[in-house]
Amino acid sequence: MRDTKAPAELMQAQSKGSGSKEMGALGQLAPKNRQELQTWQDMFCEMAGVYVQCLDGDGVPITEFSGNSHEIDIIQKYVTPIRIHNICMRVSESDLEDQAVEITEIPNLRLAAVAVGGADRIEAVWIVCGLFTDAQYDQSFYHYPPIDNFQYQISESKFYKTLDLLRETLDILIKVEASRSKAVAISEESKAQEKEMTSSFHRAEIMTEIVSLLDSDEGIEEVMAQVLSRLCSYLQISNAFTCKIHHGTLMDIIVQWTQPGVPKLFSNTTDQEVCWFLGRSKAIAISSDTQMNAGEREQIDNLGIKALVAMPIMIGGNPAFYACLTENRENRVWSIDDIKFINDSIRILQSIITKRLQTNSLASSFASLEAVLDNVGSSIYVRDIGTGILLFANRSFKKNFSKELTENRLVELFEGNIPSRSHSGNYEVHHRDREKWYDVYYTRIKWVDGRPVSLCAIYDITEKKLYQKRMEQQAYTDFLTGLFNRMCCEKDLAKYVDEARTTGKTGALMYLDLDDFKHINDSLGHQYGDTLLQDISKAISRIEGITNSCYRMGGDEFVIIVPPESYHRMDKIVEEIKNAFATPWYLKDSDYYCTMSMGVVKFPEHGDNVSELIRKSDVAMYEAKKSGKNRIAEYSDNIDSSSIHRIDLEKNMHKAISKKVDEFEVFFQPVFYNDKAKGKGKKSKIKHLGAEALVRWNSESLGFLSPDEFVPLAEYLGLITPIGNHVLKKACECCRQWNETGNGDFAISVNVSVVQIMQNDILDIIKNCLEENNLKPENLILEITERLAINDLARTKQTILDIKDMGIRLALDDFGTGYSALSSIRALPFDIIKVDREFVKNLEKDEYSKAFVRSMVDMGKSIGADICIEGVETKEQMEILESMGVTYIQGYYYDKPLRRAAFEEKYVYNR
Ligand code: C2E
Ligand code: CA
Ligand code: CA
Repeated sequence: MRDTKAPAELMQAQSKGSGSKEMGALGQLAPKNRQELQTWQDMFCEMAGVYVQCLDGDGVPITEFSGNSHEIDIIQKYVTPIRIHNICMRVSESDLEDQAVEITEIPNLRLAAVAVGGADRIEAVWIVCGLFTDAQYDQSFYHYPPIDNFQYQISESKFYKTLDLLRETLDILIKVEASRSKAVAISEESKAQEKEMTSSFHRAEIMTEIVSLLDSDEGIEEVMAQVLSRLCSYLQISNAFTCKIHHGTLMDIIVQWTQPGVPKLFSNTTDQEVCWFLGRSKAIAISSDTQMNAGEREQIDNLGIKALVAMPIMIGGNPAFYACLTENRENRVWSIDDIKFINDSIRILQSIITKRLQTNSLASSFASLEAVLDNVGSSIYVRDIGTGILLFANRSFKKNFSKELTENRLVELFEGNIPSRSHSGNYEVHHRDREKWYDVYYTRIKWVDGRPVSLCAIYDITEKKLYQKRMEQQAYTDFLTGLFNRMCCEKDLAKYVDEARTTGKTGALMYLDLDDFKHINDSLGHQYGDTLLQDISKAISRIEGITNSCYRMGGDEFVIIVPPESYHRMDKIVEEIKNAFATPWYLKDSDYYCTMSMGVVKFPEHGDNVSELIRKSDVAMYEAKKSGKNRIAEYSDNIDSSSIHRIDLEKNMHKAISKKVDEFEVFFQPVFYNDKAKGKGKKSKIKHLGAEALVRWNSESLGFLSPDEFVPLAEYLGLITPIGNHVLKKACECCRQWNETGNGDFAISVNVSVVQIMQNDILDIIKNCLEENNLKPENLILEITERLAINDLARTKQTILDIKDMGIRLALDDFGTGYSALSSIRALPFDIIKVDREFVKNLEKDEYSKAFVRSMVDMGKSIGADICIEGVETKEQMEILESMGVTYIQGYYYDKPLRRAAFEEKYVYNR
């Protein structure tokens, strides 16, 4: 723990960091990133039809020209390195232009340079060469003809657009990079500050400990050992000793101290030959890189010393002892701080010894102790406990607390917290008049003259406090918008609710959610979405009464608290928020309108705990959305409880999908095949061959839910995709196991929502499921339902055709109800049409239903599709359908959907 070195090392590291930053973000690209930039540039050139090279701010190439090398050679005949250099200087040194275009000797060849970077520094210059397809020129000016057979050619207008595009793209890139590295730099700086502070506190603490040895009753040797031990532990020095020299050339070692595990320097401690670095009247410091003569070096090497500091301990003006600290493990170069710290500590040791040896010459002892304490960085004073008289205050104390000294307020300010029996300790003191924070270390000791005193050392920790506050602030702010974040919202809300309750006032909480923010993000890109969020944040946090209580909860959701003291402005605040959204936001060169929906709750009227209030405001917000967006709804207990349920459902569903997909359990309902339908047997013979996979949700917090309760919402939220993938996977795994038992060739039907069909990777997912389970494609039937309207019919149809091409069978589910885009059955190759349950309900009595089923069977025959009837509950229904020639029959008459184990028991193992 070489804390003393840390600040210096860090400062070095910092200046190194900022030094190389001057080169610009692109100038220091790693080789891998350079390669990436080159690849990007190659693609860009191919798309745009230009020849491009990137240089750093000093004109040094970062990339090579992109394009055909033969063509580049020809271009470079006219666009020489000198010309590139000149145009590069022109744009990078001028304050006015960051773009320049020049003509060349070839009539249709233009050379352009685009400088990108911040206000104070050019990061990169792009050299762009374009061969115009539509150049207008005066032939008499040019010796050479235009070039018109090169790979990359471009029209004049597109060329200028290309320059703009290049600049804009890279500006954004650099901005992003700059804000990222700024954030990194800030956090590094804070870390360094913290480290430095901790180290200086630690240092002061050790110093105080050493000072308090003044009071020790132990023998002088023990005191020496303790001083050395504290000193060495703190500075991480391996060995130390004190010695006394006698007869000029011999020495006795008094105390030896070593770090645990390090061997001692001397095995014999008496009458040792004096080392050359001892015996002087001045201190000497030898670092590992210090020069010395061979004899000196040899002695040090023999002792295994890599670096050392030796100091005389002066008593009565003469060196009485020597203290020596050595580093024997690794090379070490002493810092000024190290030496100063050692010197101060040894001075204190000297006072202690003086106090012991010369009890009658107090004066000199005082003098030397005071000299040391004066030089210690902190403020120290000593007060007689008996009389209360101030015996001593060091220079720093007198300087910093002269006012307190004259007002005689020391006890009240700094000693008020000392427990009466405590010998030593420390605590924090807030000095209100100065708005400062101090750490007070106190010890009760016997002073040099033997009387009991309290010694207080005071450290200014205001910086550290402010730093802590800043860190707290950071933890409570949203990085993107600068608003407070969710954590801060919860903390503040608790405070405001408390306040409202105790004062009998009212406050309000508003939950604001942007309408269709996703569209802005999708159509303009994320950076504009971010800008919009920032603009909105600025607009709402400017409104009087809520300037300090706007929070971003995440995504496009905000919370605004109207504190009790601003509640009288409530109507105005709502009005101003509405106004903010009534005017357009300027993004990407044009105006965009973005509306919002907001839910309002009042506290304590609607609740007095934070989570309840946030939830209720969320419910109210959802009401506002439900009734058509762009409006504000206030919470009332009459709000449709379904809204509340829906929010619960949504939250739990997200959680279940991300952490506990196994909560979604797959049940199986057998599907029976009617042999007669295909005209094989004379007598109809129904046999079982497959099952439909039907999902259920065993939610930990909501209980057992049937698909009708959550599948529609899952589809609406797009969450049906992960759930459906899970069902598909499980179903395929089961089917594989059934087939492996050798008990038949099972087919599994899995429901697929059109939302899933719209996913880009749906084909891969299906293919993987088949391959992983070794399933034949014809063993899988996908039942497609169309509860939601399809918005890209062409694409949906194409995907369905692609699935069909894989050899998988397709069923159109719920035929006869719902949307009908897919029902243009002729256009799609469905293998099975599943007639909706509705038509079976009254099959026995209702002629219409019978006719419908019969016509379905006929139609099925003519288009080559099988008909499946589900929801068959009675024997009668079954017999009617059988006689009509329906191919597949499914329903409670045979079995309800069963848990996997029950299904296997009945239909796989015991057929
Ligand atoms: P569906 O695809 O029409 O599934 C048939 C539904 O009819 C099942 O309801 C089944 O339990 C029920 N049923 C079967 N025979 C009878 C009967 O004789 N009488 C009556 N009254 N009902 C019968 P379930 O399991 O509640 O599923 C409801 C719907 O949820 C399904 O309708 C399907 O559209 C959807 N669903 C279920 N699992 C999934 C899935 O994994 N993915 C997707 N996208 N949707 C699913
Ligand atoms: Ca189905
Ligand atoms: Ca159905």
